[in-house]
Amino acid sequence: MVLALAQDDNIVATLMSNRTLGLPDRIYDYLLSVSLREPDILKRLRAETAKLPMGMMQIAPEQGQLLGLLVQALNPKRCLEVGVFTGYSSLIVALALGPDAHITACDVSEEWTSIARRYWHEARVEHKIDLYLAPALQTLDRLAARGQAGSYDFAFIDADKENYWGYYERSLALLRPGGLIAIDNTLWSGRPADPKLDDPDTRAIRTFNQRLFKDSRVRISLVPVGDGMTLVLKLGT
Ligand code: CA
Repeated sequence: MVLALAQDDNIVATLMSNRTLGLPDRIYDYLLSVSLREPDILKRLRAETAKLPMGMMQIAPEQGQLLGLLVQALNPKRCLEVGVFTGYSSLIVALALGPDAHITACDVSEEWTSIARRYWHEARVEHKIDLYLAPALQTLDRLAARGQAGSYDFAFIDADKENYWGYYERSLALLRPGGLIAIDNTLWSGRPADPKLDDPDTRAIRTFNQRLFKDSRVRISLVPVGDGMTLVLKLGT
């Protein structure tokens, strides 16, 4: 992947990786050939999203498959998604959920989520997903104000990087002890590891990772799948 200096959001999108970082093509292709079981509807959504100027924001398919596996194993009833984009991750999560489970999904884009809604409808999971079109910090604060702290089982955070810590703190408060948060782009194409790079998004991810590393409220693992996905288990009783 070619790295360039970020000048606007469109360029930032090209800095993300929508495949697992650092693997030579031969090994990446092998990984996909012996493990990726992507249903046709997800394949079509990924192809449609790839045509968008911001298509690189989509998560990697092997990462989506890991999310689906985690969700099926955990069997969460209440899920949060911060950052829907065109709905690939929410569709995977919704397909892995039991019939009585649901997702509270946050995004600000009518345009991108209209694609998501079309695929949720086709997959017959739209009844499992409540979409809030508003800044996610506001939505998460409203959920807490409605007494929903400690009531969620699972969260996926994949939105604007400068608000990551705010999304994380609010999601953690909404999660029950033993609940899991998955946070996307925590390797950010390796940019946080390069001290010469200090654009706002890189700085945000770098600071986020450093703070999370010291956070004794959680158990963590930064999984180098896709563009880096940190798994966070909320401790406590
Ligand atoms: Ca992402």
